[in-house]
Amino acid sequence: MRKTTTLAVACVLTGAALAGCGGPAPAPEPPPASIPAPAAPEKPPTMAPGPAGRTPVFERRPTSGGAAGRAAEKVVALTFDADMTADQGPRAAGGERFDNPELIALLRRLKVPSTVFMTGRWAEEYRAQAKAIGTDPLFEIANHSYSHHAFSSPCYGLPVVGKDTMAREVERAFAAFRRAGARNVVPYFRFPGGCYDDTALRALAPAGVTAVQWDVVSGDAFATDADAVAEQVLDGVRPGSLVVMHCTRSAAPATEAAVRRIVPELRERGYRFVKVSELMADSP
Ligand SMILES: [Zn+2]
Repeated sequence: MRKTTTLAVACVLTGAALAGCGGPAPAPEPPPASIPAPAAPEKPPTMAPGPAGRTPVFERRPTSGGAAGRAAEKVVALTFDADMTADQGPRAAGGERFDNPELIALLRRLKVPSTVFMTGRWAEEYRAQAKAIGTDPLFEIANHSYSHHAFSSPCYGLPVVGKDTMAREVERAFAAFRRAGARNVVPYFRFPGGCYDDTALRALAPAGVTAVQWDVVSGDAFATDADAVAEQVLDGVRPGSLVVMHCTRSAAPATEAAVRRIVPELRERGYRFVKVSELMADSP
């Protein structure tokens, strides 16, 4: 798997930074009078395209290969789909909540790095929240399409995207994140409903994204029993797991309560929470 990481970038920024990167330390320089430029943003890792440029698909950190012991590291990525379908504007106007600010506040309180797969429509409806999530280093925003329509059929009754508009769906969502002011945006894409086929992987090639699935289904969609959701996650998590949950109160009302149980329990078992970019970066 080819990955593009720029971990070395911190070592070429300034003379001062060089001192911490091995080799003889240069004579200390006086501190600059102005505030130093922020470190260049690290480029998130991606996977190399598949045959004929097909969009690559990441599911979890592989369990074999790579540096010794790495595969068994107890890390887990919680991911939250911020679902809103293009035609749900009237329902939002009528009071239905497709956001979940209490969940985001909980993740902040518990300091759980997480990846939010957001639709472009969600970012338009909840612009201030999209910006707040997308400027908080605890989170990264990934792409869940603009409309939340299906990229293969059948897919839970979702309307289907034509293959000629698939890449455009992804670009439209990225544009919505930019307009909202989100900055921590990663080039990952989750298919609505997780539904895809070979045609979709080919059609998405121009978008240049890595598709991200999961190995643990939380079952939080339309669930009302938070304990059942928590049990399902706690039963399913292995080192390197990627869990799919939702950040949408109307369709996943028990998620916050489930996370309140899941996080301390997994920490108790020795797990560390990471974003998808970290899970992918350290994959063999
Ligand atoms: Zn979704």
